[in-house]
Amino acid sequence: MNRKLLTLCIMSIMAALLFSACGGKKEGAEEDKLQIAATFSILTDIVNEVGGDRVDVHSMVPLGTDPHEYEPLPEDIKKAADADAVFYNGLNLEGGKNGWFSILIASVGKDEKDVYELMAGVEPKYITSADGKEEEINPHAFLDPIVGIQMVENARDALSEIDPDHSDSYKKNADALLKELNEIDELYKSKISEIPEQHRILVTSERAYQYMTDRYGLQEAFLWDIDTEEIGTPRQIKNLVDFIKEHDVPALFVETNVDRRPMETVSKETGVEIVSELYSDELGKPGTDGGTYVKFLRYNIEKIHDGLIK
Ligand SMILES: [Zn+2]
Repeated sequence: MNRKLLTLCIMSIMAALLFSACGGKKEGAEEDKLQIAATFSILTDIVNEVGGDRVDVHSMVPLGTDPHEYEPLPEDIKKAADADAVFYNGLNLEGGKNGWFSILIASVGKDEKDVYELMAGVEPKYITSADGKEEEINPHAFLDPIVGIQMVENARDALSEIDPDHSDSYKKNADALLKELNEIDELYKSKISEIPEQHRILVTSERAYQYMTDRYGLQEAFLWDIDTEEIGTPRQIKNLVDFIKEHDVPALFVETNVDRRPMETVSKETGVEIVSELYSDELGKPGTDGGTYVKFLRYNIEKIHDGLIK
């Protein structure tokens, strides 16, 4: 769907919702909880953890759907319009300046002060655009637990600003999560220190792990820069195969949300095995080993460690 059409579509859904709201009654039961809308699963989990029973969070991009390019549903538009606050990742994750989230916010006329970027204050890292000419921001900073700490602090500060009467509870919830993220940072350091230096190379499909690999001293190799470009082209496959032939790569990984086939081709051509899936753009299903942000980070480092240690 092109952008004009998307805008039009959102506006017509808005009109219909406004019209239907005239005769409707307000929901009573949830009225004293903060109504929050968040763009995707990782943010939803963080805001739920920090907000505790004070928040009711609507998650927009469903699991299994690409957060880089998304078409908001009528429910997303209504929730965003009615929410006390809307949380988004930023750093170009939701398509940047002309992306789906900017269009959504403009279309519902949301006040800027009610829109919070959880990556505020995070130093961006850059990837090369599809045409190879421009530098683009890499949105996947949340794969780095230290960035996670910043996100939790941002969520805590935002909720305290919106609802100062409960700032003590937001602080307490945030402190518990921060303690856990600090432990996870230590875990990343110790797990990576156990991997022989020449094996500290993380091979994935998308270049999603840049913030994490830079932080902890891993080398990264990948098929494509970002999911929104052409994926799995013969050139991308050849480049990665060449890289693997020149380096001592013990294992390949593939993300839970990408097409496995290009990496399977790389595996066949190099004889290096795909040892595990990793989480990148979304959490696992609730109750699974990647079902919360904390579990998602722990899962990734366990799998990377076990795959590269040999
Ligand atoms: Zn991605």
